[in-house]
Amino acid sequence: MQRLAITPAQICGSSLTLTAEQAHYLRRVLRLQVGDRFIALDGQGQAWQAELTAAGATLGAAIACDTELPITITLLVALPKGNGFDDIVRSGTELGAAAFFPVLAMRSLLQPSAQKLARWQRIAREAAEQSERVVVPQIATPLPLAAAIAQLAPDSRRYVCTARGERIHLARALSSISAGSAGVAIATGPEGGWTLDELALLQQADFTAVSLGRRVLRAITAPLAALALLAAAVEVPTALNQPASTQAES
Ligand code: SAH
Repeated sequence: MQRLAITPAQICGSSLTLTAEQAHYLRRVLRLQVGDRFIALDGQGQAWQAELTAAGATLGAAIACDTELPITITLLVALPKGNGFDDIVRSGTELGAAAFFPVLAMRSLLQPSAQKLARWQRIAREAAEQSERVVVPQIATPLPLAAAIAQLAPDSRRYVCTARGERIHLARALSSISAGSAGVAIATGPEGGWTLDELALLQQADFTAVSLGRRVLRAITAPLAALALLAAAVEVPTALNQPASTQAES
């Protein structure tokens, strides 16, 4: 069934007011008629059966959804060049990220225009609908690294991905993570990598340097690779770092 992300402010009792854009989408694009059903998502974890009416829609029974990851994952991503961040938001939403913090890193080449934030929010909404999530990830305003770090939940586990140097693999670092763990923040750098100053800042803010393998990944690939590892670690607790014999015992 078709999914539509709404905001809680559109709900009043059991009736749902549609924006002009949503009404156009349901009636003209999807060709739904009065009485046809769709699923409404408030973007914060709730979903309902909904039915199109002449004036808007009515909300019916709540729908239980189990498509969300059990922990909150925040991606701190140094803005890549061009439209690279679009791809990160789209695929990162599919993989289960809860929030994206675009970082204006020292070596970020892009100075995002004001319209970018609205564009990324739209991409996140559409990707959440498409991937049957009930949470639409938050996209923060692009900020310099220190300001972005200051917005993280204080108790979050923090990792910074670095392409070179001595560091442990993220899969190993995550071996003790579980569904009940605090949120996780993962930072990935721009095409030119993090500067030494930025790495020092991240280290001071309790970020552990981690590897994603022996190859150098593109700025667009790295956050998605990290996210896929994290999702596996929390959804399949024994998927990483457990020999087959311990899996059988637990
Ligand atoms: N130009 C840099 C590489 C930048 S890659 C250099 O030559 O060192 C862009 C970002 O992706 C990096 O800042 C890092 O956060 C991440 N990344 C790429 N490959 C990685 C790997 N193998 N392990 C961990 N992080 C990686």
